[in-house]
Amino acid sequence: MTFRASIITLYPEMFPGPLGMSLAGNALERGDCSIETCHLREFGTGKHRNVDDTPAGGGAGMVLKPDVLANAIDSVSGAADNRPRLLMSPRGKPLTQTMVREFSQGEGLVIVCGRFEGVDERVIGARNLTEISIGDYILSGGEPAALVLLDAVIRLLPGVMGNDQSGTHESFENGLLEHPHYTRPQIWEEREIPPVLTSGNHGAIEKWQREQSERLTAERRPDLAEKIPGSDPRAREIIPALPVTNLGQGVDFYRERLGFECIYRDEGGYAVMRWQAVELHLWLANDESWRERQKGVPVQSGAESFIAGTHSCRIMVSGVEALWEKYRNTDMIHPKGHLEKKPWGSTEFAILDPWGNLITFHEWL
Ligand code: SAH
Repeated sequence: MTFRASIITLYPEMFPGPLGMSLAGNALERGDCSIETCHLREFGTGKHRNVDDTPAGGGAGMVLKPDVLANAIDSVSGAADNRPRLLMSPRGKPLTQTMVREFSQGEGLVIVCGRFEGVDERVIGARNLTEISIGDYILSGGEPAALVLLDAVIRLLPGVMGNDQSGTHESFENGLLEHPHYTRPQIWEEREIPPVLTSGNHGAIEKWQREQSERLTAERRPDLAEKIPGSDPRAREIIPALPVTNLGQGVDFYRERLGFECIYRDEGGYAVMRWQAVELHLWLANDESWRERQKGVPVQSGAESFIAGTHSCRIMVSGVEALWEKYRNTDMIHPKGHLEKKPWGSTEFAILDPWGNLITFHEWL
């Protein structure tokens, strides 16, 4: 089966471009894959074959028209076409090796390259386009992004890489960055190849490579390191759990006065509250029914050993001054809780909930 890529672009001359050479070039020549372009201009309207128009609501730049794009997409991809339809876009899902591998196992791709300010939002839904980004920076058009994506996909097509092993040993394929590489000479500018690599001991070599991979990943990409099964435990965040003597009132207070959402609440007296990225738990303290449920068995430790009003937590926010303006004239403000810059550098103020639990909002300004 030939992997077929159809690219909708205002600059068909950009293809195959660099993909005409080396590994991808050979694959194209052999017919393992094909790249066809669809010139968006041919679907433009009017004497000048217009493809774009000014943005609704004003602002700079131009937007690619939905009707023009849809006609172009329909011309290369009918209802029976199972290929994923992608729109290269900085707002898209970040491209990963997992996605690349998935694409390489399919029949091909339809890729729309944006230009100017982007494309009319409606065509994304109407033609079921998946937005894909190649990173957090802005290109002048989707074409270089499409070339990057196709390069990564084509090298994984069956038979494209000479040594099939090299496809699965790379960075990211096992969730790790790859270990360092060396080749002859053994000593170069007084720098030596790590002796284990020339020891001939395959077990030792593999162990060294794995350790180097793990070390590099932990150093450079802690975000990846966290996802590796069996990796070192990693502390992430603290979630405060505050005691209240009436859970319903507690949920109402945090919801109505502070803008939290209640995302979980159970009969046992526990609630999970969320405000944007912040989570706060509430639990019922001094709850007599809890003791009853224990059928008179003396409680050694549990809710009633805690007293509401002795707890506190700090919520890191951005815009602490605006929050202070919002709350400063309410009955929630702690008597000594006015906005101030603390010696340790944070600017903060505090409120009390109805049980006297202290919530400090702070910001590193
Ligand atoms: N106004 C847009 C950027 C438009 S850039 C915004 O701020 O989000 C023009 C086109 O370049 C886009 O439509 C997209 O197709 C392409 N493009 C730019 N950066 C990209 C990236 N990081 N990944 C994928 N495509 C990108």
